[in-house]
Amino acid sequence: MPVRKTGIVLKGIPASPGFSFGEARVVLKWEQPVQERAVSEANIPNELTRLDKAVEATLVELEQWRKSAGLKIGGPVAKIFDTQMMIASDREFLRIVKDEVKKSHKNVEYVYSLQIENTVTPLRLSSDPYMRQMVYDIEAVSRRIISNLGGGDENQETQFPPNSIIVASELSPGEVLSLFERHAAAIVTSGGNAISHMALIARSLLLPAVVGVPSAHLKIKSGDRLVVDGEKGTITINPPDEEWATLHRNKVKLTTQHIARLQKLPVFPPQTRDGIAVDVAANIDLPGPVDEILSKHKIGVGLYRTEFLYLQSGHFPSEDKQFEVYDAVAARYYPQPVVIRTFDLGSDKYIADQQLRESNPALGWRGIRAALDMPKIFRDQLRAILRASSRKNVKILLPMVADISELRKASSLIKRAMVELRQKKTDFDRNIEIGVMIEVPSAAVAADLLAEKVSFFSIGSNDLTQYTLAADRDNERLARIFSPLHPAVLRLIKMTIDAARRHKIPVAVCGEMSGDELAIPLLIGLGIGQLSMNPSKLSNACNVISKIKHNDTIRLADEIMQMSTLKEIESRLFEYNISL
Ligand code: PEP
Ligand code: MG
Repeated sequence: MPVRKTGIVLKGIPASPGFSFGEARVVLKWEQPVQERAVSEANIPNELTRLDKAVEATLVELEQWRKSAGLKIGGPVAKIFDTQMMIASDREFLRIVKDEVKKSHKNVEYVYSLQIENTVTPLRLSSDPYMRQMVYDIEAVSRRIISNLGGGDENQETQFPPNSIIVASELSPGEVLSLFERHAAAIVTSGGNAISHMALIARSLLLPAVVGVPSAHLKIKSGDRLVVDGEKGTITINPPDEEWATLHRNKVKLTTQHIARLQKLPVFPPQTRDGIAVDVAANIDLPGPVDEILSKHKIGVGLYRTEFLYLQSGHFPSEDKQFEVYDAVAARYYPQPVVIRTFDLGSDKYIADQQLRESNPALGWRGIRAALDMPKIFRDQLRAILRASSRKNVKILLPMVADISELRKASSLIKRAMVELRQKKTDFDRNIEIGVMIEVPSAAVAADLLAEKVSFFSIGSNDLTQYTLAADRDNERLARIFSPLHPAVLRLIKMTIDAARRHKIPVAVCGEMSGDELAIPLLIGLGIGQLSMNPSKLSNACNVISKIKHNDTIRLADEIMQMSTLKEIESRLFEYNISL
């Protein structure tokens, strides 16, 4: 196949870390409309039976995917397939399709796909990310059903050589799983975002993925050579021959880098050159295979974002279900601590049930505000976390606290949950530590008030930066403005540390900043007690830590805190970094 245009770089959303390269296999879907056929009255029962059989076959496939995901990834992620099974067997929808077949005398695949189109069209236009995620799930299921009816061209992606990079407008969680099983090297999609179901599955499988790459499936052609960087979110199309040859020479080293880096992590905790241990921990979204690697290295969890449990299923799991998940995570990492953050939903992590339409969701009903307004849901979660704390390695972290009254209300709900458990003679850690995220400027400014009432702080530098600088953390156009190294953000971090020191409580940073090699020496010098980061950043962070001297970082931090512009700060940190 002739090689086209060289070196074009497309940018998307990094959805699953890892580096990969290989030939593209573009999977185009829904391009051939399903054929419309007239059906005689006598053949209508046959059409209806065909539909029942196709639904049955689809449910069998989904059940197999669910089992396979359960084995490879673990329970919570596998539950994504429950949603798809519910969609496939939706009785009301199937009844409408059957009625329409009887009425219109049209073939069932035609009527089915028409009804699907009617259902998803309004959802596609929805500003609600959960609804848009639902579109992917509905389309994925209906493609399977149409394919099982013998129509459509759903299976066109089934043939590809191992180590191909699959490019599609979108992929379903099941497709990602099946592509992984057939040794795809990476996936690239035009649609989707970092929290879409297929991205969650890819992350859990450690399969590199870049999503939300505008028109990727049209810009890339099958046979193009691709280099995918799942950490940066870039795709290079047809790099120059020399580069391609070098990539092939270093193939094993490059493509297994992410997992190998995790497996080769040093003994924890890492130490500075002058022998000071630095507490480094991992952020996790959903339990998965990465937990096994991390726990073997005795790495703790500094931030467990539990809202992904909701995001992957679209509903709040029961107390017992949550307990199962939290308990398994606590057991896996034991005796290392696991900081479980209560649901931080709202804003980009949308709560579908509430039908909320907020004109400014980042400043809206989210995090602890939403939790306090949903006491039954909050109580279930608190009880589940408390029950998982019996080994005494679990801590509770409250997100988006902006005001002391929120902390008071949450604390009294925690106490009430403890009383209930005590009455039932259920075991839990009675001295469980409770901390708050410092990610709203008001919490940083009033950190001294909060410090009196909690056991630890965890700075969410992503939100703290977005709110301090009034710059949306996901807006590419504001990338130059959005920096946690801005002097205003650093002042808030310093205020938080000072307040915590006065009240003798530790401070962690769990936003992206903690894995940034420029920021690490500064944070250590400022007195941050723990750096908790995306697992893909751990290896580099440990490397940086091993090269610095603790005393130097204190001087560096003093110097930085005198500076008045982001530019000065960045260049001084850069200079320090290259001197290591
Ligand atoms: C943060 O805001 O820095 C943080 C860690 O929380 P999240 O990224 O989940 O909002
Ligand atoms: Mg946050």
